[in-house]
Parts: sequence; structure tokens; C-alpha cells
Amino acid sequence: MPKTKRDYYEVLGVGRQASLDEIKQAYRRLAKEYHPDRNPDNRAEAEERFKELSEAYEVLANAEKRRLYDLRGHEGVSQQFGPGGFDFRRDFTHVDDLTDLFGDLFGGRAGRSGAGGLFDLLFSGGGQRRRAARGGDIRIRMRLTLEEIASGVTREVTFSRFEVCAECQGRGGKGTMACPTCGGSGQVRRQSSSFFGQFVQVAPCPDCGGEGSKVKEPCDKCRGDGRLRQQRTLKVRIPAGVASGNFIPLHDEGHYGPGGRGDVMIEIEEKEHPLFVRHGDDLVVEVPVSYAQAALGGKIEVPTLNGSKRIALPAGIQSGKVIRVKGAGIRHLDGGKGDELVRVMIHVPSKVGKEEIELLKQLETAATEPVPSPRRPA
Ligand SMILES: [Zn+2]
Ligand SMILES: [Zn+2]
Repeated sequence: MPKTKRDYYEVLGVGRQASLDEIKQAYRRLAKEYHPDRNPDNRAEAEERFKELSEAYEVLANAEKRRLYDLRGHEGVSQQFGPGGFDFRRDFTHVDDLTDLFGDLFGGRAGRSGAGGLFDLLFSGGGQRRRAARGGDIRIRMRLTLEEIASGVTREVTFSRFEVCAECQGRGGKGTMACPTCGGSGQVRRQSSSFFGQFVQVAPCPDCGGEGSKVKEPCDKCRGDGRLRQQRTLKVRIPAGVASGNFIPLHDEGHYGPGGRGDVMIEIEEKEHPLFVRHGDDLVVEVPVSYAQAALGGKIEVPTLNGSKRIALPAGIQSGKVIRVKGAGIRHLDGGKGDELVRVMIHVPSKVGKEEIELLKQLETAATEPVPSPRRPA
């Protein structure tokens, strides 16, 4: 059976001729009164009252909605709200009239997240029992060479993690008793004052973690913690193509917690390679050649991640030109392969012998192609 709706003016305790200012004042006064944290013993009722007030205010604070309500009562404004009637999260448009009221409590967070955010802060905040905590994650850094990254690798990792204490099965000891700090409620209350009065804030008890109970005789193996550190070794398959900063997650291999294990996160770090620089899936290497080699062309040996490879050097190649060796790079994470980019650099000798000087001078006079004029860099 649907509840009979109370008259909006009655809800706010104002007369039918009340000014907007009077309506606003009445709403703010009552909203404070029915703040759930001020009513820790009957939060549900306070929440209902708060919603009722807000609905009344939503209508009476708006000239058009108020006119419709004055004309035809609740039926007159039923179209103003979404299906199912007034919903604070959806239909309340006056959050700004509340944020200054509750702002100091919530550090201004309510305003930014709108009515839904304010609602969550008001009604699902402190005072609830904490859920059984999941164990923490473990981060392990793994340094890999480019060769290992290029082909993928299986590595063993050893780390220490919390395991459930076998002695007490994670209970932390024998027997239970009510927590002396919170008297078994799992909550502690803190008084805080703000300009409109004293507030009671409710938080999970730090002593029992919100459980309300503690063990009577703490386990001497784990000293009441319910868990113990132990070494664990795992084989981890690292796929080809990973890069520095990538994480390989190993789900449910982290620390034990009553709410389940955390994860192990393997963080990849690439070791600097003595020859190659990595550009995505491509590898870049610099290969010096002599002037004669560059002018005449031929075969040259270039290093790759799997030994050296002979490649063709086109005759007349200029210094700095790049030869692409297809498929000699890093495998993509999703198949395919990068290339190796061989940057050819003409090596000019820093010392020349007597005989070389003569030959070079002859070469200079015999040159068919002159050295080009100065030009704008490409
Ligand atoms: Zn134990
Ligand atoms: Zn407690």
C-alpha cells in the first residue's frame, strides 16, 4: 500500500504564504537536524526524513513547481520527477544550498559530485562495518635484456608473502571477546564541532578493525595477526614484446587476507642494450662503413639480436641513410615483428698514412662527381 504523502508545507513546517527565504531557512534547519551522522541510532529514519524534506524543498523552492503543487497538490507535480517519484540522486537540483552547510564536513567534495555524491557521503559514509580486507598486492621489478624481450622468456621469481597462519587458521588465536575499545559495536564516535553545532562522526573501530570482537588468547605463532610471511617461488612466462613500465599481473598470488589474496604485479624494466636502441618494436643500430665501401657497395655484416647477418649495401649510399632489415626487430605483443634499422655512417679516418695521402690526392683529382654545393638541411 502506498504511503500517504504529507503536505510539503507541513513537511517543512512553513505556512502556505511562506517566502522563498523562509522555505530555504526551514529546509536548511531541518536538513541539519536529520543529518544521518547526527542520528546514529536511527539512521534509517533520519534518511527517510531527509529525503522527504528534500522533495518538499525541491518543489517549493521552484516557482513553477510550487504553482503546480498549489493548484493540484502532489498530482500536479508528479510529472516533475522521474519514474517511481522523487529520487534524491536524480531529481534534487539544489545541492548548492546544502554544500555550504555540509561542506566543512566533507571538505567540499559533495558539491563537485552533485546530488548523487552528496547522497553517498550522507548515507553510506562512516559507521558501516568494514568488509573483510583483501590481502595486499606485491610489486616485483624484473630487469630483462632486449634479447629476452624479443623472444619472450620464462623466469623464476622468489618473494615473501603473507600466508594464513596454520596454527590458528588465520583467526589470530583462540576464543573471542567483545572489543574493549568499542564495546563490541565495531564503531567509534568522534565529536567534532562546526559553526552550526556539535557533530558526531562515526568511524570503524581502529582496535578491532570494525569487527566488534577480538580474540581472547592471541596465537603465539603469528602473534595474533593470523598470517605469517613465507617465501614463494613462481615461474613466470613473460611474453615477447613487453616494454619498460609494463605490468604482468599474477592474480591471487599476493598477500593473504581474510577477503582473498592480493595480486603479484611484475613490473618490467628493460636493460640498456650495448648496441641497439629500441623504438617501439623496431631496433636501431649504427654501422660505420668506409668511403670505399659506401661508394662501391657490396655485402656488409650487421649485428642482429640473433647473431650477425649479411645485408646488401647499395653502391653510392650516403652517410646517415637507413637500411631496413625486415622482421629483425621485436615481436609485437599481438604477433607480427618489428624491423631492424641499420643506420649507415661513413667512417672518415682520423689518421692517414703517407701512402694514403697520395692516393687520396689522386682520388680528389680523378673524382667524376663534384662535392655538391651548400644546401638547406633536409
Ligand atoms: Zn596464528
Ligand atoms: Zn573495536
